[in-house]
Amino acid sequence: MSSSLPAELPDSQHPEEPEEFSTQNSDLADGVNRCPRCGATDIQLRPSAGKLVCLFCRHEWAESLLEEATGDEDLTTLRGTIVGSGAADIDSSVSAVVTLKCAGCGAEVVVNTSEQLTSRCHWCRHVLSINEQIPNGAVPDAVLPFSVSHEDAVARISAFAKKRRMFAHARFKSEFTPENVVPVYMPYMVVDGNVSAEVWGVGEIKTRQYTRGSGDKQTTYYDADIYQVERRVDFTVDDLTLESSGERANIDTKQNTNNVINTILPFDTKNAVRWNASYLNGITSEKRDQDVEHLQPALENQLLSIGRSEVSGSVATYDRGVRWERERIDVHGTKWVSMYLPVWLYSFHHVERGKSMVHYIAVNGRTGETMGSVPVSHGRLLLAALTAGTFVESLAIAFLVVSS
Ligand SMILES: [Zn+2]
Ligand SMILES: [Zn+2]
Repeated sequence: MSSSLPAELPDSQHPEEPEEFSTQNSDLADGVNRCPRCGATDIQLRPSAGKLVCLFCRHEWAESLLEEATGDEDLTTLRGTIVGSGAADIDSSVSAVVTLKCAGCGAEVVVNTSEQLTSRCHWCRHVLSINEQIPNGAVPDAVLPFSVSHEDAVARISAFAKKRRMFAHARFKSEFTPENVVPVYMPYMVVDGNVSAEVWGVGEIKTRQYTRGSGDKQTTYYDADIYQVERRVDFTVDDLTLESSGERANIDTKQNTNNVINTILPFDTKNAVRWNASYLNGITSEKRDQDVEHLQPALENQLLSIGRSEVSGSVATYDRGVRWERERIDVHGTKWVSMYLPVWLYSFHHVERGKSMVHYIAVNGRTGETMGSVPVSHGRLLLAALTAGTFVESLAIAFLVVSS
């Protein structure tokens, strides 16, 4: 992020229609991904290396970075809405079910892209992959491969649960099997922006401080000069990450706690590679259901709070603070790409007072950052609160995690 202060607001005539740029990986033919060395189709991601590995000859390789493919640019010149072909609007008439012709034997194999993006031909055992970007939200512009291994994820989930053992529900403890953690790719939009923000408010500078009265009746008074304050700032944002599954963004926390995913941000999105379905072999993915337009309000909210923090350094002279009363955001240009980001998920169904609740522990598949919720035993919490004051803090943390 870079900024300059103060600045003129450039004019912001946005073209109506988003401009699309292609991220289609043309090196891949639809249907079959072959090992570049031996031609086999049994290809998988090896998380510890973050690379694809041929299960036949053990050759390892990677797709090129999306960033390299689409080119670096000066974000201060970004104008209009530019959208990667994998982030294009979802066409509701396009079926999630795709039929591929097997290159090995000619059979027609059906792939339900809302559940998987690779499938094995039942006749010749070739692995078939969806490489073409179909406008149903299933194939993104890029994928950030897992680099945290299953073993590492299990260790982190065990450590997370161990720390909360004291308050955990007995059934959770007896049925805890961190080995059941599964890798999932979650859909996100990654946005660059060229923005101006304008804020108006009232600032106060203290001119005098004095006390009146004596003893218990003493009161301190301040005199202050009051100013109308106005600030404008131009700034750019690089790789802002927005959830693009509406179902998860509007989650009902009374039934499950899976918005913990947002607490394990950020991801090193600069290392995302161009689409290749082999990165998803054996890994489930959640299909994107939000278009650029749906995510504009969430983006503007984030941009406004960035704008406010950008100007905060310039109002330090108002030692009694500034109260912002009005604000405006001017988005000159945005660039959107859709991306699958890697998450290890451990879930636990818990029934309490007849209500079912799903608890999750999530591990960032790149950084190992771990967060989640554990069903608590209310008896234990109460007992702890009654017996020792120092437990109250942990109690608050436990509740915080549950409700986050
Ligand atoms: Zn090979
Ligand atoms: Zn076949």
